[in-house]
Amino acid sequence: MKLIFERGEEGQHCTILPACDVPEVALEAPKREKALHLPHVSENELSRHYTELAGQVHGVNNGFYPLGSCTMKYNPKVNEKAAALPGFTRIHPLQPEHTIQGCLEVLEKTESMLCEVTGMDAITMQPAAGAHGEFTGLLLIKAYHDSRKDTKRTKIIVPDSAHGTNPASAAMAGFEVVSIPSGEDGCVDLEKLREAVGEDTAGLMLTNPNTVGLFDKNILEITSIIHEAGGLAYYDGANLNAVMGIVRPGDMGFDVVHLNLHKTFSTPHGGGGPGSGPVGCKAFLKEFLPGRLAEKDAEGMYHFVDPAASVGNVKAFYGNFLVVVRALTYLLMLGKEGIPEASSNAVLNANYMMAKLKDVYPMAYDETCMHEFVMTLEQLKHEIDVSAMDIAKALLDYGIHPPTMYFPLIVHEALMIEPTETESKETLDEVIRVFHEIYENAKADPAAMHEAPVRTYVRRLDEVRAARKPVLRYEF
Ligand SMILES: *Cc1c(COP(=O)(O)O)cnc(C)c1O
Repeated sequence: MKLIFERGEEGQHCTILPACDVPEVALEAPKREKALHLPHVSENELSRHYTELAGQVHGVNNGFYPLGSCTMKYNPKVNEKAAALPGFTRIHPLQPEHTIQGCLEVLEKTESMLCEVTGMDAITMQPAAGAHGEFTGLLLIKAYHDSRKDTKRTKIIVPDSAHGTNPASAAMAGFEVVSIPSGEDGCVDLEKLREAVGEDTAGLMLTNPNTVGLFDKNILEITSIIHEAGGLAYYDGANLNAVMGIVRPGDMGFDVVHLNLHKTFSTPHGGGGPGSGPVGCKAFLKEFLPGRLAEKDAEGMYHFVDPAASVGNVKAFYGNFLVVVRALTYLLMLGKEGIPEASSNAVLNANYMMAKLKDVYPMAYDETCMHEFVMTLEQLKHEIDVSAMDIAKALLDYGIHPPTMYFPLIVHEALMIEPTETESKETLDEVIRVFHEIYENAKADPAAMHEAPVRTYVRRLDEVRAARKPVLRYEF
């Protein structure tokens, strides 16, 4: 496809700016040596350009998108409608509080609902994504130990089935990361955990369900081992869509949790779109939260409150507000019954697919999963040299987005599938049929699998070169 610079010609333009309604002022600014390279296209050309671009991407509106751990579920359009209301979009962060009472109410209501869902006492909306929430939560843990002059607690324990961002966030927050292996069953090895804790343990980060899609059956024991050692327990709740309305991190002994509103609470988040990673905590940590909590006073007026011993702001003002509007809309639409039902369906869909695929695709852990499951193609690779990558690429020819590949690292030739609750049985059955067809094709002609995809706009990419030597500039 042509780039925008290669379309149109000198003299073509489209004016979509409104007429200027303030006096023009000549700027005494330094002048450019060369004219700026801007595309010269008509509105028609511009429209075609973006339509063509849009046709080349795959999103949940195009088809099945089982990207494990990323929760690419359907986002109800009513959320967008709410988030586009002028009362939410045409505000300024420095506006006086009494003029934005409705927006403060949105923040306060969402905070209190999410506290109820997580079993926490306070929550900040500031962090802009999951990993950012992890970092913030770890700052709370650090501030807590520091406030007690317990400065020898420098280590964070992270099981090897954690999401990759967990150890990265712990290192970013200045902790030393202690990795502990999982047992045969994919859960935390309690013996190894007991050996790892000590006077230097600041806390543990647990991704639950973990990256192999399992709910850790020893979760209460895990949090009590950490607490007995004097550490705090952090719950990576990015995958709360497996358990929301059913169990609560707060009831399982966790002190801090982050959520991914853009995953569980439905905001479109492909291509780096806006995220929100609220961090909830128990009452004893509330004073350390970042600023700008929305609270209601005795007269029913809403105010922003900055916690007493705050770790400081992690983002300007109150985070990505319109993602919060979408989350609140989603929560209100689902209601008290709909929230656990969404989780049950996410788990049911994953187990249905797993049960229907395991005849030919061996599962890494063959037991009831949560919202996602991991298959291992090690045997296929060994026997006929067809890899997880080959199967993933073959799916593209059927208009299906590939699952997460080669993750988690503890499973070889891994494909991690998260169907989400928003897919119908018809869709799941069709995808299951496609998986079987691909398997048959692989058996019949293994070499041809290395060519896939063959029906897409671009064929198989050199992914290493694309990552190491990306061409990001257009040379005029
Ligand atoms: C997605 C995810 C994260 C990271 O969230 P981002 O918003 O991408 O930073 C962290 N933990 C788990 C378990 C996740 O699934």
